Amino acid sequence: MPSDVDSVDTFTTEFLKRLQFGQGVVLARATTNDLYFALARTVRQQLMSRWLETLNVQRKAKAKAVVYLSAEYLLGRQLDNNLLASGLTEIAEQSMERLGIDITTLREAELEPGLGNGGLGRLAACFIDSLATMQIPAVGYGIRYEYGIFRQTFVDGVQVEQPDSWLTNGSPWEFPHPEMGVKVRFAGHTETEHRDDGSVATTWVHGWEVIGIPYNYMVPGYRTENVNALRLWSARATQAFDLQVFNSGDYLQAVRAQAFAENISKVLYPEDSTPQGKELRLQQQYFFVACSLRDYLDNVLPADFDLRRLPERVVFQLNDTHPVIAIPELIRILVDERGIAWDVALDIARQVFNYTCHTLLPEALEVWSVELLGRLLPRHLEIIYRLNDEFLADLREAYPGDELRVRRMSIIQEHPERAVRMAYLATVVGTKVNGVAELHSQLLRDKVLTDFSAHWPEKFTNVTNGVTPRRFVRLANPGLSGLITETIGEGWLKDLAELQQLEPYADDASFLERFAAIKSANKSRLSELVERRQGIVLPQAALYDVMVKRLHEYKRQTLKLLHVITLYQRIQENPDLDIVPRVVLFGAKAAPGYRIAKDTIALINAVATTIDADPAVKGRLKVAFPANYNVSLAEILIPAADLSEQISLAGKEASGTGNMKLALNGALTIGTLDGANVEILEQVGAENFFLFGLTEPEAQAIQTAGYQPHEHYASSPGLRKALDAVASGEFSGGDTEAFAPLVDSLLYQDRFLALADYDAYVAAQDEVEVAYRDTKAWTRSAVLNTARSGYFSSDRSIQDYLDRIWHAKPVPVAGPTG
Ligand SMILES: *Cc1c(COP(=O)(O)O)cnc(C)c1O
Repeated sequence: MPSDVDSVDTFTTEFLKRLQFGQGVVLARATTNDLYFALARTVRQQLMSRWLETLNVQRKAKAKAVVYLSAEYLLGRQLDNNLLASGLTEIAEQSMERLGIDITTLREAELEPGLGNGGLGRLAACFIDSLATMQIPAVGYGIRYEYGIFRQTFVDGVQVEQPDSWLTNGSPWEFPHPEMGVKVRFAGHTETEHRDDGSVATTWVHGWEVIGIPYNYMVPGYRTENVNALRLWSARATQAFDLQVFNSGDYLQAVRAQAFAENISKVLYPEDSTPQGKELRLQQQYFFVACSLRDYLDNVLPADFDLRRLPERVVFQLNDTHPVIAIPELIRILVDERGIAWDVALDIARQVFNYTCHTLLPEALEVWSVELLGRLLPRHLEIIYRLNDEFLADLREAYPGDELRVRRMSIIQEHPERAVRMAYLATVVGTKVNGVAELHSQLLRDKVLTDFSAHWPEKFTNVTNGVTPRRFVRLANPGLSGLITETIGEGWLKDLAELQQLEPYADDASFLERFAAIKSANKSRLSELVERRQGIVLPQAALYDVMVKRLHEYKRQTLKLLHVITLYQRIQENPDLDIVPRVVLFGAKAAPGYRIAKDTIALINAVATTIDADPAVKGRLKVAFPANYNVSLAEILIPAADLSEQISLAGKEASGTGNMKLALNGALTIGTLDGANVEILEQVGAENFFLFGLTEPEAQAIQTAGYQPHEHYASSPGLRKALDAVASGEFSGGDTEAFAPLVDSLLYQDRFLALADYDAYVAAQDEVEVAYRDTKAWTRSAVLNTARSGYFSSDRSIQDYLDRIWHAKPVPVAGPTG
């Protein structure tokens, strides 16, 4: 095939063509962006024929496909991933070298598509990578936000959000298909017609509509011919929309109307775990699932396909409650548009939908007010009411006289306002409901969806999260990847359980030395970045203590910070103290309206500045908080970590995936018995993990008994001293008001028991210090963390979904040779 670029020569020729004919410049005049685009397009072209062939093969196979519905995909940069998947990394590097182009600069020219908030969106990105690698016919659907997660900057230590205009220079990876636009309707009313045959037909007379334009992105499997698709929707005004207003003669109003329609995909909501119930957000949710269902049913399935057989051909996975409105949408299509009987339609919906729950926090469980739903999606509300009526009737039959239970289980809540509980809707209709770690799934059954698990025990299952080893080990940590491949071959990249074969090397002195040298080089790489960005020089020979994740009270960044203050105070009290030099690294964005979270960021920065200014501390304790934690930064921070901070209050973190990335890269965890920490502990062994803190039942008991945080303040001298320092203004130039809300919320509320866990946490950190002094034993533990974390591959998660929920099979695409 003439377009193959499988040698340095052909690659270079193709690259220069892309530069000249794609960008319209010659090499001598090309900007970095031109070069990046030309390189990306060269790689894209290579993947293109595989992609088309994949579509072709999948269409012919008529196999069951997985449709992943997710409002977020936190993809990270694409260039390196696509080079790796297509096996072109070295060819591209040599080609650029030959042309005198620094490929690193081009890599860094890519603005990462940050179309997600944190763990949930990153999980979706890992899953589509694994689905393609495992050759499963799959498509990911989502929203092409024009502005992804905000760019975080610090002004005087305070978070200031900047818009993330990732599309300013265009994206070389997307394929827009305006001709495939899909209409999405909103508002209006419904009309019912009673037919002569006794049946009832409902018509939705909509109020306004927008068009969804699909943008396709290739999702190449690692070293396979399979290339799946990610299809993200962008909102456009319809012509009808324009004309209607245009005819009224108001040109400016027509333009405003267009802007209104296009608002729908304008910006990602920056709240993680705390949805705000905003109308635009419901519009986004319905917009993308309506587009996706329409696209799948009309364009992906064959034209003559009998939708009664839908369950044979597709399974829809709902990533949290954001896409749950797809359930009434499918029923609406089947009943109102295809004339399928209600019972049959419902039966189809019951077989094709499954729901993944991602939380345990009550404030994160999405509800939509009946008023809003009825106004925006009147037909969907009717469908939800009918579903609920039938469901409650079944319940009354199953539990006669137990009206309390019936009300508890209703899809509609009555207080504080009448609203639809999206998690209940998904649970009632979905075939399976899964939590994302063993403990989380158990708590879901026992605490959150208790009545449902009693009613339908077989509906509930677990699939522990995972991360893709391609991005988070191979790309993020080339040094470690090289050592692993040299030692056990390269099979681990497709079967991460093979990392077990590294275990014997935990006692091989030369292996340990190389492992430690790689960790040290990764620290240098990180400190160069921190120095470049912030002008801060990090000590090399130090314990790198890393806490990177969204800022949320339940994750307890303040607990970590209290420990930092305690370390600082120990040095202040005893300037000659022999302590292990430590670099504490934070990375975290706070939701813009989340006051306490933003105060916490300001306090971390204030503590960092104070410590930095104190000569007594020099070289022994350093706090660095590089701004704008995102996937690209994660790829630098995680490989440099010695210690992984996973200190959420037990029973609050559903799974965590940062914990897995860090363990795989040879960091030892200090953590609570929460989320997937429990399983990490099980895999790596208690002797390679610093466990501390309350268990979930203990935390529950304390809260039931009436938690008094100031009792801990009174009884723990270390805690008192640390909190007093904050309250006295030591980190705010004497200003005692600056952090008062934060201190008060800890002393008088402390919803997540940070004070209750302080002593145990500091004691565990003291053990860390002792352990770190024995370099060889520490490195041995680090190696065992890597060797024993193969379970946390997202390939294993996907295999579990296939076995327990999806029951879809691989459809391999043969290569050019066979
Ligand atoms: C993995 C990841 C997360 C999730 O981290 P947790 O510690 O599991 O909350 C969030 N943000 C980014 C950029 C990530 O890569």
